Amino acid sequence: MTKHKCINVALGDRSYDIIIGCKLLDEAGILIKPAIRGERIIIITDQNVAPLYLNTLKLSAEKEGIKVKEIILPAGEQTKSISYFEKLIDQILALKIDRKVALVALGGGVIGDLTGYVAASILRGIDFIQIPTTLLSQVDSSVGGKTGINSKNGKNLIGAFYQPRLVIADIDVLDSLPQREILAGYAEVVKYGLINNSEFFIWLEEFGLELCAGNKEYRQRAVLKSCSSKAEIVAKDETEQNMRALLNLGHTFGHALETETGFSNKLLHGESISLGICLAFDLSLLLELCSKSDAVRIRNHFSAVGLPTYLSDISDIDWDANTLLNHMLSDKKTENGKLNFILVKGIGKSFIAQNINPKNVQIVIEQANQQR
Ligand code: NAD
Ligand code: MG
Repeated sequence: MTKHKCINVALGDRSYDIIIGCKLLDEAGILIKPAIRGERIIIITDQNVAPLYLNTLKLSAEKEGIKVKEIILPAGEQTKSISYFEKLIDQILALKIDRKVALVALGGGVIGDLTGYVAASILRGIDFIQIPTTLLSQVDSSVGGKTGINSKNGKNLIGAFYQPRLVIADIDVLDSLPQREILAGYAEVVKYGLINNSEFFIWLEEFGLELCAGNKEYRQRAVLKSCSSKAEIVAKDETEQNMRALLNLGHTFGHALETETGFSNKLLHGESISLGICLAFDLSLLLELCSKSDAVRIRNHFSAVGLPTYLSDISDIDWDANTLLNHMLSDKKTENGKLNFILVKGIGKSFIAQNINPKNVQIVIEQANQQR
C-alpha cells in the first residue's frame, strides 16, 4: 500500500472511513473487499470518467475476487433527475441483485448523490461506496450522507440522509479534471478555513495557488483537512439540526445566484460559493460583526487563485438585487419568510444568524454588483 491517510466518520454502527492518498484506484479492491457484505459490486460512473478510470477500478476489484458490473450514465447535472433515478434502478434490478450487493459511485457529486439515493431506495437500502473524482466531491459531497436528486421544482429537493460504507479519495484522479472544476472545488476547501479554522485559511493563503496549479502534497493535505472538518461536524449533527448548518457559509447567497443562472455552466456551484462567501463577509461587515480587513483578505485570496469575487466578474448576466432576494425567500432553507445566514465575526469565526433584515441583503448585493 502506498502512503495514505484515513479519517473515521464516527456515527456509531454507521461509522465509516475516508481513505485519502495517491494511486488508490490501483489498490481500491483491497480497500473495498472488507467493506462489502457479499462479493458483488456494481460501479456507477459517467461518460467522462469511465474512459479514464473505470478499467483500473474494475481490474483492481477483480484481482481481489470481487464480481463487477458497471453502468455508465451521461455526465452532467441533468443526470441527477427522477428519470435517471428510475432508469438506474431498473438497470440495477435487471442484474438480479440481492441485499448483499454494493454500489460504487465513481465520479463527481452528480454520480455520488444519485448513486447514494438509489442505494438508499433499492430493496429498502443496500450498501454504497464513494470514489469521488472531482475536488468538490472529495472535500464535500462524498462525505456526510446527503444523497438526492433534483426536482423540476428545484435542486436537491428529493433525497435522503444515507451514509456510505467507505470513501476512497484518490488525489491522482484530479490530474484530468478541468482547471475550472478544480477552482470550483477549491472554494469549498477555503470555506472550511473560514468556518472554524483560521490556521487552515492562513495555510491556504500560503499554498493555495500551488495547490490549484497541481501540487499533490498540498492537494492531499487540503482534502484531508476538509474531510476531517466535515467528519467532525457531521458526527455531531448528522441531520443538520444545528451546527451542520455552518457548512452552508456562502450558500444562501450562492444558491440564489445559481437559481438565477439556472444551475448551468454559466456559474459552477463552487464559483457561486466564492461569490456567496464574499457577500457573507460583506453582510457581516455591514452589520459591524467583522472587520473590513477580513473581508478584503478573503476577496484577495479568492481572486488570487482566479475565482470570482464580485457579481460583475460574471459577464452576460444582469443581476438584480430584488430578484435574488426573492430566490432566497423561496429557498427550502428559509423558514416562515425569515432570512437566515451563516455570518462571521472574523476568519474562522462563523455562526448562525437568524432573521436578517432583507434591506441589508439588498445593500450588499447592490455593492457587489457595482464594485470593482
Ligand atoms: P460533476 O459530478 O458534474 O462533475 C463535474 C464534471 O467533471 C463532469 O463533467 C464530470 O464528468 C467531470 N469529471 C469528474 N471527474 C473527473 C475527472 N477526474 N477527470 C475529468 N473529468 C471529470 O460535478 P461536481 O462538482 O463533482 O458535483 C456537483 C454536484 O454535487 C451537484 O449536483 C451538487 O448538488 C452536489 N453536491 C452535493 C453535496 C452533498 O453533500 N451531497 C455537497 C456539495 C455538492
Ligand atoms: Mg456547496
